[in-house]
Amino acid sequence: MNLLKEIEEKNPYQPEFIQAVKEVAEHILPYIEVNPKYKKHKIFDRMAEPERVIIFRVAWLDDAGEIQINRGYRVQMNSAIGPYKGGLRFHPTVNLSILKFLAFEQTLKNSLTGLPMGGAKGGSDFNPKGKSDNEVMRFCQSFMTELYRHIGHNLDVPAGDIGVGKREIAYMFGQYKKIKNEFTGVLTGKGLGWGGSKIRPEATGYGLIYFIQEILKSQEDTLVGKVVAISGSGNVAQYAAEKSIQCGAKVVTLSDSEGFIYDETGITAEKLAWVIELKEVRRGRIKEYLDQYPEAKFFANERPWKVKCDIALPCATENELDDKDAKQLIANGCKYVGEGANMPSTSEAVSLFNKAKVFYVPGKAANAGGVAVSGLEMTQNSLRYSWFSEKVDDRLHLIMKGIHDTCVRYGKQADGHVNYEQGANIGGFVKVADAMIDQGVV
Ligand code: NDP
Repeated sequence: MNLLKEIEEKNPYQPEFIQAVKEVAEHILPYIEVNPKYKKHKIFDRMAEPERVIIFRVAWLDDAGEIQINRGYRVQMNSAIGPYKGGLRFHPTVNLSILKFLAFEQTLKNSLTGLPMGGAKGGSDFNPKGKSDNEVMRFCQSFMTELYRHIGHNLDVPAGDIGVGKREIAYMFGQYKKIKNEFTGVLTGKGLGWGGSKIRPEATGYGLIYFIQEILKSQEDTLVGKVVAISGSGNVAQYAAEKSIQCGAKVVTLSDSEGFIYDETGITAEKLAWVIELKEVRRGRIKEYLDQYPEAKFFANERPWKVKCDIALPCATENELDDKDAKQLIANGCKYVGEGANMPSTSEAVSLFNKAKVFYVPGKAANAGGVAVSGLEMTQNSLRYSWFSEKVDDRLHLIMKGIHDTCVRYGKQADGHVNYEQGANIGGFVKVADAMIDQGVV
């Protein structure tokens, strides 16, 4: 039977997972045809099957003393090149399909960084929004009371993702430490005073901009004066905006699940600091930006892709940019799309970008800076040492340049245009595939 059909039949009701596998297969299957050792060892077939999936009950008490029940997950996808590594997501939409797609992408992404990290992802359908700190703490403790037996600093090292920031990482770390009675680097994204790495909060957003800078450099261009549209207003969006502004670009949008704000005059460093305080301390909504900066506009239940821009950076969630959005961006002259989020563009949107020769960079390459600095956090924890910001930032810069070069190596077309998607898929695949061949049929 056709391999993709077989994977589809084996994984019913998992549309996001199938979407991710098909997008990667588009480049890997032709590559395997001309490199038959991968076919003989059934590498792609094996990569599409998680090594292990753990699903568990998370029961906890809310502030009213009511029992609440959520579902917890950890998908340990591939450990061929290192311990499992990948974030935890707390969001009501979390299900097995979404986590398997994220873990599959993570395997290739981690490989691209050049660091020894396997791929995993996990989380829960728990919604931290509107919960008190005590409720979040009780949930995190209950979640870790099961998860602790499946993770470890040499086994599986989770980090944050949507809905899991430094507060949640701290509560989970505290519970892990209490149960295991040991202080190890079992989670990344930790607080700076207790094993965290400098630049980890900034890493995904900064890394995204370093990647875009590499493409611009290849076009003998820079970020100065470029108009940038960003979606989301969480961790990735905030630091993608910060680095864009530092590099002289004009950021004009931010969003959340209720709509987007458009500030034609540009979101300055000062305005962004206000947004970060709004989101991280007051846990407010992006529309409140207008209370502070009334010259901006708010578009309820819309996404920012109708705004004229040179560079679009989707930094919120999967499938948030569809074919209609892609057509609008292309018509408005957008030349660069860098995915801060994981799989934010639908397959149709990606085809349109590639056809129009837009420089489109998929999340597994563009947002790999986050997990790269998580890898550096693991290194620092093993050394029992903490590097200065400059050193971590320099390494992040080098890693993003390395990923760019890998994409060029495997993605350069006959006409000289670089298909970054092809480059990222093949570049990420080769190292994992070779390790799997070396390690035998396991
Ligand atoms: P945060 O929770 O900090 O922020 C998420 C942002 O996206 C919020 O503004 C949120 O709005 C918005 N959002 C979430 N879900 C939806 C939705 N269904 N529709 C519209 N907007 C939505 O998460 P991060 O910034 O950490 O993650 C954002 C993306 O980046 C994700 O795809 C994640 O997998 C990816 N990523 C993150 C990394 C990291 O280091 N944090 C590393 C690599 C990738 P609202 O508050 O209304 O929900």
